[in-house]
Amino acid sequence: MKYYSTRDSEKKYYSAPEAICKGLAPDGGLFVPAELPLISKKEMEEYRGYGYERIAAEILYKFFPELGKAEILAECEKAYRYPNFDPTPAPVKIVDDNAFLELWHGPTCAFKDMALQIMPRLLAMAMKYCGETRVAHIVTATSGDTGKAAMEGFKDLEQTRITVYYPTDGVSETQKRQMATQEGSNVNVIAVRGNFDDAQSAVKAIFADEEIKRIAEEKGEFLSSANSINIARLVPQVAYYVSAYIDIVKSGLIKDGETIDVSVPTGNFGDILAGWLAKKMGVPLGKLICASNRNRVLTDFFITGVYDTRRPFYATTSPSMDILIASNLERLLCFSFGTEQTAAFMKSLKEDGSFTLTPAQLDILEAEFGCSSCDDQSTAEIIKRYFDDFGYLLDTHTAAALMGASRDKCLVVSTASPYKFAPAVADALGMKEKTHEALSKHTGTQIPAPLKDIYKKDIRFTRVVDKADIKKSLYLQ
Ligand SMILES: *Cc1c(COP(=O)(O)O)cnc(C)c1O
Repeated sequence: MKYYSTRDSEKKYYSAPEAICKGLAPDGGLFVPAELPLISKKEMEEYRGYGYERIAAEILYKFFPELGKAEILAECEKAYRYPNFDPTPAPVKIVDDNAFLELWHGPTCAFKDMALQIMPRLLAMAMKYCGETRVAHIVTATSGDTGKAAMEGFKDLEQTRITVYYPTDGVSETQKRQMATQEGSNVNVIAVRGNFDDAQSAVKAIFADEEIKRIAEEKGEFLSSANSINIARLVPQVAYYVSAYIDIVKSGLIKDGETIDVSVPTGNFGDILAGWLAKKMGVPLGKLICASNRNRVLTDFFITGVYDTRRPFYATTSPSMDILIASNLERLLCFSFGTEQTAAFMKSLKEDGSFTLTPAQLDILEAEFGCSSCDDQSTAEIIKRYFDDFGYLLDTHTAAALMGASRDKCLVVSTASPYKFAPAVADALGMKEKTHEALSKHTGTQIPAPLKDIYKKDIRFTRVVDKADIKKSLYLQ
């Protein structure tokens, strides 16, 4: 299994552990596998009898064979088993002919846990394989959910430490509280005045900065990333599409082998890309519907072939999708059109803030992807209607995905507990009081245990910096 950079026309090869340790390729591109492993019909049959952690281990081993099958399985068991996750880590709920894949039964109640509970363990294994003795300093920008989930994954993990930057704008109160109360001796949290793209651009600049590299070296550290640019962050997400398909067939909603469309609430394009990879590997999935909110840069891209970030940024009730630069799209471009074309697109994106597909290229993507966009008002209406009609409570991101769902049966990826976005969900239901307790009483649903706990914990992190000071803040107090 070899990996190369999405921007490298020479296709210099890296081993899986090297790609995992580096995170980002030296030329600024993302690592992609030279060849996609396949899942045979026979393997799918076998997986039917497996628990989630075993399916995950099978998929991970296909991509990262150097790490060892038994070793990967042992780590998956630690990551995905109760009490870290609920006893069923990624359940499918059938409501109104849709299959909701609930990916929020982990320690932070959002789907980022699916990858970030295992990714730090994969990184530790890769470092051992590569003979890496330095400390991996994880630096990450978050639109809310990633940072918390990353810190939960890395906290007190040997030979690692983590610094998380989050924007003051567009992060919910619950998310802020979750981050400010984070435990662990190797974690640091810094708020940035601005929006997610400001924070993400600054973190990207940190990775390209020679001075920072030098300071890190002096401290016996190297910088790495937990954002979905790391291949070890992306691959674990393939597993839940495999388990979901098996569960949907078991539920009787579709017959074995029948395809089903998938609607994915999309921000950085990691989740939906994992779904596309699962499809390419052999899981019978139909169209992948890229669901956006009012920040519809991807929706417009799939309709017109023009990816244009020169547009206003909106803070919405689904903040984890408030993104104008979707990093993982670069991997799709590379798989579809090759490294040279991808490098040209990325150059254009950097210089002009946009790039444009040819009509033939757009046709290729349109054969695989659908798209939709949902404003805050429609999001609220969907939450209300679904609760009134079916008694099923959606969070704002999942509601936006439902907007894009095919009229027939659809697999809808549910990415957050409604409690994580309680004020917006309570608003949608016409409630006056917007607390977790009020939402629980009104809907007869349970507050997830990890969210109850944050109000009992002490605030540990209060630092706020300006955009311009992000670089300095990494090593200077
Ligand atoms: C991160 C996130 C998304 C977007 O996922 P991407 O992989 O970035 O596209 C959607 N919903 C929630 C709740 C998230 O936390």
